[in-house]
Amino acid sequence: VNVQEKLNRLRFKIDKNSHISIDKSKCVKCQSRACLFLCPAGLFLLLEAELFHNHEGCLECGTCYISCEQKAINWNYPRGGFGVCFRQS
Ligand code: SF4
Repeated sequence: VNVQEKLNRLRFKIDKNSHISIDKSKCVKCQSRACLFLCPAGLFLLLEAELFHNHEGCLECGTCYISCEQKAINWNYPRGGFGVCFRQS
């Protein structure tokens, strides 16, 4: 089973309120754009020099929060009952 197949097995309970937000004033100073390359779910997108994200499908790994060189990403776990549900099989 490859990684994509494993990801397809996950289930999400989507909260309409995003648990991720980006401070645009800090984000524009970023040189590395690490989130684009490191998010295992590919939830970040750069369009015409502006960063967009989608909180749906977040694996709650925290990589974006830790790797952001400008500390522009505000990240919290989703509210109780929402977010990813990891399955063992
Ligand atoms: Fe992507 Fe992990 Fe950040 Fe979620 S916590 S957006 S999966 S890097």
